[in-house]
Amino acid sequence: MKIPHPKTERTLVLIKPDGVQRSLIGEIIGRYERSGLKLAGLKMCIPTEAHIEEHYSLDPAWRRVTGEKTIKGYESKGLTPPSRDPLEITARILANLKKYLASGPVIAMAWQGAHAVAIVRKLTGGTEPLTSDVGTIRGDFVLDSYQMSDTDGRAVRNLVHASGSVKEAEAELAHWFSKKELIGYRLISEQILYDVNLDGLLE
Ligand code: GDP
Ligand code: MG
Repeated sequence: MKIPHPKTERTLVLIKPDGVQRSLIGEIIGRYERSGLKLAGLKMCIPTEAHIEEHYSLDPAWRRVTGEKTIKGYESKGLTPPSRDPLEITARILANLKKYLASGPVIAMAWQGAHAVAIVRKLTGGTEPLTSDVGTIRGDFVLDSYQMSDTDGRAVRNLVHASGSVKEAEAELAHWFSKKELIGYRLISEQILYDVNLDGLLE
């Protein structure tokens, strides 16, 4: 079987309701766009809580892994986690995520290009805005933290969702977009990114 060229990789990005409300749609799209990635699909919608639960259930390991990661996070700060059961921890996180993501319109996007998943994760930054690197979307535009969101019993407001792996991206894109909504086309600027010989530049 022919291995697909890296430039065909696609990933899902959601601008969450806080990103829309804070008028950051253009800023966020611009950051992905200027990296050289190509927009292959875009829509605005208000997801249902069921759609969000399905989104986070696409990876059967997500509940366990997120629960375990969260427990480790508490312990690394010298804090006692609210439960020792990873699934119980994730049940709380998921309930808050459903409320958060169904609270208003979101922007769903498919971005395409070489290493799209990893490039988008790098530009997006780490999950908790307090520790996301400066220069990333979450690091530059949010001041939220697990401490604050846990105190207030809500999801951490981190502006965007971005798929974590190529496998996750494939499942998530199929969950948010029909085949018809994802558009294959060529951008003139792709020549400078992907052309092997760079011929045709000189007059
Ligand atoms: P992402 O891929 O960077 O969004 O992070 P994950 O897939 O690990 O987690 C998805 C969502 O679960 C995050 O956006 C957070 O809302 C929530 N979450 C993950 N880890 C934690 C945690 O340690 N504490 C809390 N309160 N929420 C978390
Ligand atoms: Mg994730």
